[in-house]
Amino acid sequence: MQPRETTDTVIIGAGVIGLAIARALAPTRSVVLLEQEPRFGEHLSSRNSEVIHAGLYYPPDSLKARLCLRGNTLLYQYCQAQSIPHRQCGKLIIANAGQQDSLEQLHHNALNSGATGLHRCSQQWLQQQEPWLHAGEALLSKHSGILDSHALMRRLAEQAQEHHALLCYHHQVRRIDCEPGHFLLHVDSDDSPFELQCRQLINTAGLDAVPLLKRCNGFPAEKIPEQRLARGNYFSLSGHSPTRRLIYPLPEADGLGIHLTVDLAGQARFGPDVEWIEHRDYQVNTARLPHFQDAIRRYWPSLNADRLSPAYTGIRPKLFMEGEPYRDFLIQGEQEHGIKGMINLLGVESPGLTAALAIAEDIANPG
Ligand SMILES: Cc1cc2nc3c(=O)[nH]c(=O)nc-3n(C[C@H](O)[C@H](O)[C@H](O)COP(=O)(O)OP(=O)(O)OC[C@H]3O[C@@H](n4cnc5c(N)ncnc54)[C@H](O)[C@@H]3O)c2cc1C
Repeated sequence: MQPRETTDTVIIGAGVIGLAIARALAPTRSVVLLEQEPRFGEHLSSRNSEVIHAGLYYPPDSLKARLCLRGNTLLYQYCQAQSIPHRQCGKLIIANAGQQDSLEQLHHNALNSGATGLHRCSQQWLQQQEPWLHAGEALLSKHSGILDSHALMRRLAEQAQEHHALLCYHHQVRRIDCEPGHFLLHVDSDDSPFELQCRQLINTAGLDAVPLLKRCNGFPAEKIPEQRLARGNYFSLSGHSPTRRLIYPLPEADGLGIHLTVDLAGQARFGPDVEWIEHRDYQVNTARLPHFQDAIRRYWPSLNADRLSPAYTGIRPKLFMEGEPYRDFLIQGEQEHGIKGMINLLGVESPGLTAALAIAEDIANPG
């Protein structure tokens, strides 16, 4: 065992959230970021739709709504300033017969949350703009877009390092002790295990953020939510995309519905769906293909199913409290769990990529 090292702040996890926080904190304190994988962004942050969301779906007083809207503004500014590839391509949420009320409710919710850049589109407009699309009406969100999430993470990592943050790959936090006035982390690395002491501890371990709390001595067990896993499968579309916009049906109980997104190269893909799983497994479930075909044909009746092929998956950390789904981000500080200096970011599913810079801003400027 090596002697103890000491630092001001340790961040666990080099996904987009941990990297954004490292960049925000590094100018004012010594920061060590521990990542178990050989590089950043190997999990949630590279297994998503790369959509810059515009805050339409979340309850107006939720963290998701506030952080998504603020994150959207910060992210476009950052992408422009740092030359990170992105495109404000806009998004259509479509409604067909019998769905007008749901579209109306979504529109109201978005306005109540403070979302802007929203327009209602008639069937005639849709026929001109998106002739392939079967839709009676739509809500256009002009502030929705796409970005290169890898380029974003690379730049965040560079800027954190420019301010002397230490990014340590192949470093897995095995266990944490909450001790008076500080934390003691037991870390496995390629060389040998060692102990690291810090005054501030930020747990942004993505899917592992909840399991890690169960290995944290002194953390109140009743403050650890239950976490379940919801895989999202994606199928890609070969050949030309019918559109350059993002096309979404109305949201479903657990997700946003099987939607079409395009990447910066113009390639289209469909998904993610919502598939509850017991164990982490990133394999695409090809048995979901008929379900994808049915869902897509509701808005693209002439889809040629031979053009669909399995692409990739991402896994959402879904929180439950007292058996009920907890639908917001859960950001726990001292007020919530009673331990000074510890911040846990739990259940950071979508729109976490969009919200990353806003989450980091809040943590760097508390109160
Ligand atoms: C299917 C899907 C689609 C999505 N689409 C979008 C979208 O279009 N737009 C959007 O805004 N958001 C989207 N999201 C959400 C977004 O991807 C996440 O909110 C965001 O990436 C979370 O980042 P993170 O840093 O918390 O997690 P991660 O990127 O998973 O980072 C956590 C890191 O912690 C590391 N780690 C874990 N345990 C330890 C340990 N013990 N020691 C050291 N390191 C550890 C992991 O290796 C990992 O690198 C989507 C999510 C999913 C699943």
